[in-house]
Amino acid sequence: MTRRKTVNITGITRVEGIPYHDAWVAYKCVKCMKMNYVIVGQILLDPKEAIEKCVWKCEYCRFIHSKESDLPFENWLDEYNDSESTPALRFWEGFFRIATEHPASYWKQCNVCLRVLPFSAFSKHSKWGPLEKQMECRSCKGAINAVLNPRRTKEQMHESSVRRRIADLFLEGENQTIDFQELFERFSRRCFKTKTPLDINKRETWAIDHILPSKFLYPLTFNNAALLSKSANENKRDKWPSKFYTNNELIELARITGANLAVISSPNPIMNLSIDINRGVERYLQVREKSDLPKRIIEIKKIIQVYDLVAGLSNENKTLLGFP
Ligand SMILES: [Zn+2]
Ligand SMILES: [Zn+2]
Repeated sequence: MTRRKTVNITGITRVEGIPYHDAWVAYKCVKCMKMNYVIVGQILLDPKEAIEKCVWKCEYCRFIHSKESDLPFENWLDEYNDSESTPALRFWEGFFRIATEHPASYWKQCNVCLRVLPFSAFSKHSKWGPLEKQMECRSCKGAINAVLNPRRTKEQMHESSVRRRIADLFLEGENQTIDFQELFERFSRRCFKTKTPLDINKRETWAIDHILPSKFLYPLTFNNAALLSKSANENKRDKWPSKFYTNNELIELARITGANLAVISSPNPIMNLSIDINRGVERYLQVREKSDLPKRIIEIKKIIQVYDLVAGLSNENKTLLGFP
């Protein structure tokens, strides 16, 4: 089977000339204690052979690691440091065995970030070199996957759902009820993004885009609502408008809705600071179950810090939440 030609669509490139199937041995110099890395190529070393044949020179202090070398340990009796002694020989046997006997003790270079990392830093890939490991380390793999497959992690999902819940509570009472009929007329019964005609009676096919997202503390108002098809809205989600709409669409949107063009076209999100933070805190701490309160305090504190809203808190709330 011919290998599919790899097209790099991630913008994350591999570095040429890195022999990524090669195994490395890493050892800590017994004299200066610095880490050294030795490429051993595509065949893993046999520990018995390593003891007999390996001569590894520390690249920092030039100490030679070989069973012919005397040991440098000051806390050992001189006679045990002597390479002719049984303790020294036993030490060297152990030294080379640790470095070579188990595939898990080998290292490998990532051809994306170039770090030499232990075996366990690479995911399994059968039949690729002696270590049967992927060519990129797991951190690089994570970055590449994030580009190829922007599905958010569970934790991010959780984070963002917590944020949305908090934002929704902050905004409760400030949201307006949207008149669907008016919204459809305003947007000529089409998805604003895709221009697909939409049917007001098929509620599952369309959605109201919260143009300036609630995540940044903007309530849903008639000026802050756009008509989108369900799928377009799924792509929009909590994105800041300028990250989803083109410049022409932003101008058009401001025209249709009366939204502030400078705000919606800002390259970076602008937090809505005109919101009443203290009322939001009050609402967020209204819990039915007493046991929920400590969790809520942690959540609200975190959000207030992340959103940099501490200054807007009343002194009473600052004390209540434990802000200095
Ligand atoms: Zn050294
Ligand atoms: Zn890497």
